[in-house]
Amino acid sequence: MRIDIISVLPELLESPFSHSILKRAKEKKLLEIFIHPLRKWAVNEYGQVDDYQYGGGAGMVMMCEPLANAIEFLKKERQYDEVIFMSPDGELLNQSMANTLSLKNNLMIISGHYKGIDERIREHFITREISIGDYVLSGGELPAAVLSDAIGRLLPGVLNDETSALFDSFQDNLLAPPVYTRPADFLGWKVPEILLSGDPAKISEWRQEAALKKTAEKRPGLLND
Ligand code: SAH
Repeated sequence: MRIDIISVLPELLESPFSHSILKRAKEKKLLEIFIHPLRKWAVNEYGQVDDYQYGGGAGMVMMCEPLANAIEFLKKERQYDEVIFMSPDGELLNQSMANTLSLKNNLMIISGHYKGIDERIREHFITREISIGDYVLSGGELPAAVLSDAIGRLLPGVLNDETSALFDSFQDNLLAPPVYTRPADFLGWKVPEILLSGDPAKISEWRQEAALKKTAEKRPGLLND
């Protein structure tokens, strides 16, 4: 899979893709992430990519021309399955959306800044608008990194144990069961006996029950979906 991210602050995106699982995904060539500084397509030598909003009011708006040129430039090189705009008014990101997007080949992600991007870009270029939650961040870079991480870890071969993503929270509408590691007794707090039994069937049954219990307690709404 290839993800192209267009951003006015590419520095914000360096670290999230340079460590741990996403780094490994890149090294194994399972995921390619390219970050494109929008200022490459600025309208003048000062690097301008934003302007005052029509109708007045505080806050700048990202201009049509640099974004249109950046998107067109990338689209000439390859076909994109989705051109995604990260936006607080988009569809709320969830696991099933990440699962679906992880099956695509080429994704383009636009990070907004300031007041957002000119509406005409949304109308004419964007195929999908995604929010990472009902709160407002100062830019779309962290949301783009969140989305790329949620997708990237699902690509076959990225996680060491290929089946492990299947047992994460929200797959099957269940939260993940509790996990424990050594020591088996810490300050008198014991690990559930069954996990030490070495009996895979019993352990799997315990985990299923624990996942159901946790979901019923913390997120009962998931059980009705
Ligand atoms: N004025 C806009 C918010 C602009 S925030 C509004 O009220 O809707 C600046 C940029 O940050 C947005 O264009 C978007 O790309 C990004 N952003 C902020 N919060 C976000 C969220 N919850 N999900 C996804 N992107 C977000």
